[in-house]
Amino acid sequence: MPLATMKAIRLTAIGRPLERQEVLPRKAGAGELLVRVRAAGICHSDAHYRSGLSPMGALPITLGHEIAGVVENVGPGVATHAVGDRVCLHYLVTCGDCAACRRGLETWCERGAMLGHHVDGGFAEAITVPARNAVPLPASIPFEHGAVLMCSSATALHALRKGRLEAGERVAIFGSGGLGVSAVQLARALGAREVFAVDIRAEKLALAGSLGAIAVDAARGDPVAQLMEMTGGAGIDVALDFVGSPAVMRQAVRCLAPRGRAVLVALSDQKLELDPYREILGREAELIGSNDHTLAEITEVIELVQRGALDLSPAVTATVPLDAVAINGVLDALEQGRAGVRTVVLP
Ligand SMILES: [Zn+2]
Ligand SMILES: [Zn+2]
Repeated sequence: MPLATMKAIRLTAIGRPLERQEVLPRKAGAGELLVRVRAAGICHSDAHYRSGLSPMGALPITLGHEIAGVVENVGPGVATHAVGDRVCLHYLVTCGDCAACRRGLETWCERGAMLGHHVDGGFAEAITVPARNAVPLPASIPFEHGAVLMCSSATALHALRKGRLEAGERVAIFGSGGLGVSAVQLARALGAREVFAVDIRAEKLALAGSLGAIAVDAARGDPVAQLMEMTGGAGIDVALDFVGSPAVMRQAVRCLAPRGRAVLVALSDQKLELDPYREILGREAELIGSNDHTLAEITEVIELVQRGALDLSPAVTATVPLDAVAINGVLDALEQGRAGVRTVVLP
């Protein structure tokens, strides 16, 4: 049954706690769906939106871009979905028609808008989205896993693809948060010979270890030296940085084997210094940027979850209700670096 008004947790001013507001859900227009939100992940990006570190458009806006739910209403002309379908939502709404979209570079769509960043997101009872953003979620995958895989897992897969990981290669993953937990498992599913997880927190290293990674405790000394020793001096073929500090980015470059690829995923606004000969060209190393993921990669991630190659249970560490105080508390914890891997809102 369509909602009259609904509860939404919204950013009303930069630097202020999110607030509960009653809003009217937007009716599904042509080609759109109204989706009842069943799970919405709370991401580190949401803390950046609240603080203003990432620029925002018009306020107020409902945050939340990691969304899974059930189709409640189908707009005119939609033949691909039916009421009651379980879906998870690709957070980038694209036009499908500009030069970038036509080249398959949807991330750079001229009219692209991100759910929970540029348009209302999933910290609400329902959300209206284009039908092509709704990916079928198999019944075997819980909604909270469906929500989380839309951001961190798909982004981790994209980063491994950007690093051109081949079976038999060695991978190092710097940072074992939400992305790292997925990246460890995905690298193994893609046939990596060894996956090293580098972190400074014992509980994160233990978690990565339980997923099949070889733990490298950076609190105990230079992780580059440890990686070189653990690989018999060979080094790493693909290193992913999920930390976002120049010091760690440089470690991801310095640990590379000849022709190795370092992929930067986490943001930083600080300068990165490298030694061009010893760290890059002398070894034909590559420094690669990775941003977001594509709709097609989400389908791939769902298949990997169904096959049992990716277990998202360790990625969801807590749940909270659709409540402003609870969600603000999780954003505070993310800002202070004391949050678990992922907290999911269950409206
Ligand atoms: Zn996210
Ligand atoms: Zn476009």
